[in-house]
Formats: sequence, structure tokens, C-alpha cells
Amino acid sequence: DTTSAVPTAGHRPADLPGRLRHYVDGAFVDSVDGATFDVLDPVSNETYVQAAAGRTADVDLAVAAARRAFTDGPWPRLLPRERSRVLHRIADLVESRDARLAELESFDSGLPITQALGQARRAAENFRFFADLVVAQSDDTYKVPGRQINYVNRKPIGVAGLITPWNTPFMLESWKLAPALATGNTVVLKPAEFTPLSASLWAGIFEEAGLPRGVFNLVNGLGEEAGDALVRHPDVPLVSFTGESRTGQVIFANAAPHLKGLSMELGGKSPAIVFADADLDAAIDATIFGVFSLNGERCTAGSRILVQRPVYDEFVERFAAQARRVRVGYPHDPATEVGALVHPEHFDKVMGYVEIGRSEGRLVAGGGRPEGLGTGNFVAPTVFADVRPDARIFTEEIFGPVVALTPFDTDEEALALANGTRYGLAAYVWTNDLRRAHNVAQAVEAGMVWLNSNNVRDLRTPFGGVKASGLGHEGGYRSIDFYTDQQAVHITL
Ligand code: NAD
Repeated sequence: DTTSAVPTAGHRPADLPGRLRHYVDGAFVDSVDGATFDVLDPVSNETYVQAAAGRTADVDLAVAAARRAFTDGPWPRLLPRERSRVLHRIADLVESRDARLAELESFDSGLPITQALGQARRAAENFRFFADLVVAQSDDTYKVPGRQINYVNRKPIGVAGLITPWNTPFMLESWKLAPALATGNTVVLKPAEFTPLSASLWAGIFEEAGLPRGVFNLVNGLGEEAGDALVRHPDVPLVSFTGESRTGQVIFANAAPHLKGLSMELGGKSPAIVFADADLDAAIDATIFGVFSLNGERCTAGSRILVQRPVYDEFVERFAAQARRVRVGYPHDPATEVGALVHPEHFDKVMGYVEIGRSEGRLVAGGGRPEGLGTGNFVAPTVFADVRPDARIFTEEIFGPVVALTPFDTDEEALALANGTRYGLAAYVWTNDLRRAHNVAQAVEAGMVWLNSNNVRDLRTPFGGVKASGLGHEGGYRSIDFYTDQQAVHITL
């Protein structure tokens, strides 16, 4: 019906804040020099709020507050059970506000509302998980009969600097905040400048849950400014960073003079390998979800699909048909499966790869802006077939709803293709041959492998990448290890 009005604007949540500020030592504050930056919503690409732009002086104030809360405050000295209670209250509060959180996150980031709701619940689960884990935590004790007893004295480290990206911002912040706080550290969070809205809710949630003043501090601002000041601050011994590999390299270098503890969750170009003996229905559903959910702005997206030759043509045809059925729409619409990309700069980057792809592969679905959604950052799910392994769309992270399909013949060739990028975050393998599944899983250069399964994680397992995808692990006890010092104490008997 071409006469029905096509909406040109998305949904604007009620009661948006008039200004986003820092949160330092229990109070909302502006930048010392009053500087701000514009925050856009990805459907209208208009500025909807100004956020305080943190300078070095603002980071100094936040770190000083966190440092005082660490050296003089109660938080690091509480029993794990007492900290755990606060974390469970945080989880309760996040759960009770999940609809509002999802509304704000979807508006700010362009994520489909149903997926933003799932991420809000996951944020609550992250707090619950680490609340339980620190209570169950045990450490090693060794006895050498008649000679020595040795034990591990685990201690919080101090002020943790947490630097997070704009994809699923609230959830990824919780993934660092929860273990950092559970283990007794104090924190300064620097959220991504494209999506600062949901981070502003943490302060209220933490106050209500009873987190002592100064334990949580937030500085908004640009990466090169506020983020950089946090990385270089001498009183911040730990930096947990999630973002692009290139930014990770810069942070690595800037943290080197202080020999800081670093956790780096970086970019990816993860392969999904589909063998001819696989359950094709399941493989197609999962690989569609794997690359197009969260707008394709997902670090573990299966953005290269390698398909064994006997089923390649069928796979390409069915995958492309299903990609064309994926519903692109306004982020607040519950029927939407792909929303708006986060920011016009990122939209231009993704569209640049779509143009490059036209000469590097055979376009079989998408290829541009879908009709009828106005001028927001919408990109139709885009599928390129017959992509060669030296293509840019095969080797570079696009971070949008764009996927490269490539045929292979043998297991060895599949592995060579899978391992043929600088990244090594995730891999997905589809086969009904048990030995092949395990052999490929073990030979693929990826920190995480899913066999015949969707990207669903157990929070106890290590999360992290190899090669340019990261350094260190988060998840379960690996997070506890990152945020604590383990002192060995030896006693002669
Ligand atoms: P980004 O690297 O541009 O920014 C991430 C954060 O770092 C932001 O808060 C930014 O302000 C800050 N920053 C930028 N330059 C800085 C500097 N010089 N010093 C200190 N901080 C600085 O990444 P992005 O575009 O926000 O996020 C997308 C990227 O994140 C993708 O590459 C994606 O794969 C990756 N990612 C990885 C994981 C993972 O767990 N491996 C998860 C999500 C996203």
C-alpha cells in the first residue's frame, strides 16, 4: 500500500535527560571546563543530548575519588558475602528496570528493542553470576609435610579503568563492572562516546543498591581524551578494554610505561565452517542469526561463512533468500530484527565495504539502504558469494550486517581459509562427523568455538580471543584472576 504514511522518525523515549554528566565521588558533575560533545540518535541522526566531555582533569578527579574509596573506604574490606548482597541488589534493580533500559539502549544505539531487552537481562545476570562466584571462591593451599604450608592470599588491586565500546554498551559495561566490584576494587568507567545514555543509569542503580560512595565513578568523553587519560593515569593499575584491535594496540603502548595489568577484548572476523554433512536447516538459521543479530555489530559475528562445495550452491541460494526475509526496521518496533547502525560515521564505513564488495564478490542479497525507512543508518542484510580469501571483505572487520560466503573442498582448505585473517575470536563449525568436529575445533585459531550451536555462552567459560582479537581472558574465575593479586604466603613448619 503505497499510500500509507511511511514514518520518518523513530520513537523518542519520554523523560530523556537534558544533559549527560560525569559521576564522581557520589555526585553528578560537568567537566571542569564545561566542555560537551553531541550525542546523536541513529534513526534521525540528530543530536538529542549533550554529554560532558571528560578532560584529563576530570579523569584525575574520578581516579582520586576511586583511590580514596579503595584506600579508606569499606568496600575492599567487606566480606565477600556482604559485597555479594550489594551485587544481587544491583541485579534485582537492573531486572526491575529492564524495559526502560532496553528502551534507552535501543534509542541510543539503534539495536532492535527485543534484542536490547535480552542484553539488559544479561547485564543483570552478569551481576548475579559474579555475586555468586565470589562467595564460592576458594584459593589454593599446599602442605609439604613437616616443612611448609603455602597458601594464596587473594587481594583486590585498586582502581580499575574500564573502557567499553558502543555495541551492547550496558551489557558490556556490566561484564567488567560486576567482577571488578565483586572482588573489592573501585572503578572508573569510560563508556563509548557514541552511546553514553544507558551508562548514566548505573549511578542511580548503584546508589540504590547501597554501593559505598566513590566506589563507582563515570567519566564520559572521547577515547583519545578521557580514555587516554585513564590509560595513562599512574594510580590506575588495571585497564580492562573492549574495542577495536587498533585501539587496543594504542592502549597497550600507552600502558607500557606503568606496566599495567591489561585485559583486551578486541575485534573479530569469525568464520562459520559448514561441511556438506551438516544439518543445513540448523546451519542456515544459526549463521543468519550469527551475522545479522545485534545489527551485525557483534564482536563474535560469524561474518565469513565457508561452505563445502557439494552444498555450496544450495547454501548460497537458501541463505540469500533468508537474508532477504530478515526484517529491517525502526529499533523500537518489536518486529524489527535489524535496526539502525549506531552512527553515521559507522554507517559510512559499512557502506564503504558494501561498495568494495561489489567488485570482490557476487552480491546475492541486500547491497544498500532498504526503502521506506528514511535517512537513518539502515543497511539491508547484505550477502556476497564467491569471495576470495585475499578480498578486503574477507579479511577486514566490517562490524555490520554484511557477510562473505566462500566455497572450500577439503578440511585442510577450510582450516587454511578460517585461519587466514589476523583475527582469532570465535569460530562456528557445522558437521555431523564427531571426529571432524573436534579436529577442526582444535586446529582453528579462535579463542571460542561453537560446534553445531548458536552463539550462547556459559559465563563460567573463558571469553577472549587469540591473535589480533585479544589478550587475556574474562569469564568465570579468569575475571576474578584479572581483578585480583594472588600473593603466595609460605610458612615454615
Ligand atoms: P573503539 O576501539 O573505537 O572504542 C572503544 C572504546 O575505547 C571507546 O570507549 C573509545 O572511546 C575508547 N578509546 C578510543 N581510543 C582510545 C585511546 N586512544 N585510549 C583510550 N581509550 C580509547 O571500538 P568501538 O568502535 O567502540 O567498538 C567496536 C569494536 O569493539 C569492534 O572492533 C568489535 O569487534 C570490538 N568488540 C570486541 C568485543 C570482544 O569482547 N572481543 C566485544 C565487543 C566489541
